[in-house]
Amino acid sequence: TEAYLKAMEEARPLNAYVLETPEIALEMAKESDKRIASGDTGHLEGIPLGIKDMFATEGVRTTACSKILENFVPQYESTVTSHLWRDGAVMLGKLNNDEFAMGSSNETSAFGPVVSPWQRDGDTTPIVPGGSSGGSAAAVAAFLCAGATGTDTGGSIRQPAAFTGTVGIKPTYGRCSRWGIVAFASSLDQAGPFARTVNDAAILLRSMAGYDPKDSTCVNRPVPDYEEAVGASIKGKKIGIPREYRMDGMADEIDTLWREGAKWLEEAGAEIVDISLPHTQYALPAYYIVAPAEASSNLARYDGVRYGARVPGKDVVEMYENTRAAGFGPEVRRRIMIGTYVLSAGYYDAYYLRAQKVRSLIKRDFDLAFAQGVDAVLTPATPSPAFGIGEKLKADPVEMYLNDVFTVTVNMAGLPGISVPAGLSADGLPLGLQLIGRPFEEETLFSLAEVIE
Ligand code: GLN
Repeated sequence: TEAYLKAMEEARPLNAYVLETPEIALEMAKESDKRIASGDTGHLEGIPLGIKDMFATEGVRTTACSKILENFVPQYESTVTSHLWRDGAVMLGKLNNDEFAMGSSNETSAFGPVVSPWQRDGDTTPIVPGGSSGGSAAAVAAFLCAGATGTDTGGSIRQPAAFTGTVGIKPTYGRCSRWGIVAFASSLDQAGPFARTVNDAAILLRSMAGYDPKDSTCVNRPVPDYEEAVGASIKGKKIGIPREYRMDGMADEIDTLWREGAKWLEEAGAEIVDISLPHTQYALPAYYIVAPAEASSNLARYDGVRYGARVPGKDVVEMYENTRAAGFGPEVRRRIMIGTYVLSAGYYDAYYLRAQKVRSLIKRDFDLAFAQGVDAVLTPATPSPAFGIGEKLKADPVEMYLNDVFTVTVNMAGLPGISVPAGLSADGLPLGLQLIGRPFEEETLFSLAEVIE
């Protein structure tokens, strides 16, 4: 714990942590030492972790990296983090993320961007760690924690994992409790771990997962010992390669890596088959209707009355307006406007309802592939390596949204997906491959990812 706290201090220019909690960390570590001395140890005893600032932590400021929650100190602990502490883990601090987890580069945070510990060969341009869990990804990659929590609504665990050479898994919808996590798009949000190895990710997910009656969408089924799946044989596993993911304009090096990944799995005994997921091209536009729609509803609670900041006005309506205008950044405002528009009486059928129908079709594509015996689907995690800070922010917001083209389908279908480091780009930045599994078959993903790692 002390070593990590020291590393965090030295790495402050990366801006990975928005709050360091050294006193809490040392206290928790001391308690952990006592348990170790008495032989009564948990599954994560003494392991120092960073927590994405989307998770409510009791008595510890939780902001979702938004000005509107600048001074919010929850009186409760999220279920996922309480599982980690139950198993003996130590909290080092709260990690930076895009405001309300809306973004793919960690540049929309009210605390400023996170800098990736990676740089292009022979070039000092600061690089984004990806988003929205950019602080988690950068902190794990730079050894500023042993592992971290993330949330993934459309790729926010898998894309930053790919950009930083770390492992990130978004489990099946319902596997981890959403209780105490700041809500973005409730039908898509899932928590998951970041780690430096597949094995570490398996260890962390075992603690994070599990039934919680406080989240009505959390599923009551036993949590497997995911670690057992790491290193298990993948002989006979059928891996689907979806032809629709081979998109125009995809970098050659990504395509090459994808073929290599398939070859590694084949050499380890898996069978590679071509599959079709015909509605893939509609996933991104449908996601950018469904996610903002749900966000506009979830964010209605930040009204200057119940949480965080308040900016007074001459009456209550003006107080709402002033508070929300001062509290939300431009990307969050954009999402609220898109969301309220697609839900409005005249446009609901044309946008929101159609997007929901598309969502069903995307899920059906995967169902059909699984019905043909496919155990997992292999795709690139991202269409390009990480980019420079500021490079995509000024451009059309749609350019940023295109980063999520390979990851959003998985949230739309509620499936588990893992991103595993698989190689380097020509200019020396990490590249990841994504494996998508059947519902609640995270074990298969851990076995396959271990072969690629
Ligand atoms: N980049 C996507 C978005 O901005 C996904 C974010 C996420 O998964 N939290 O909506």
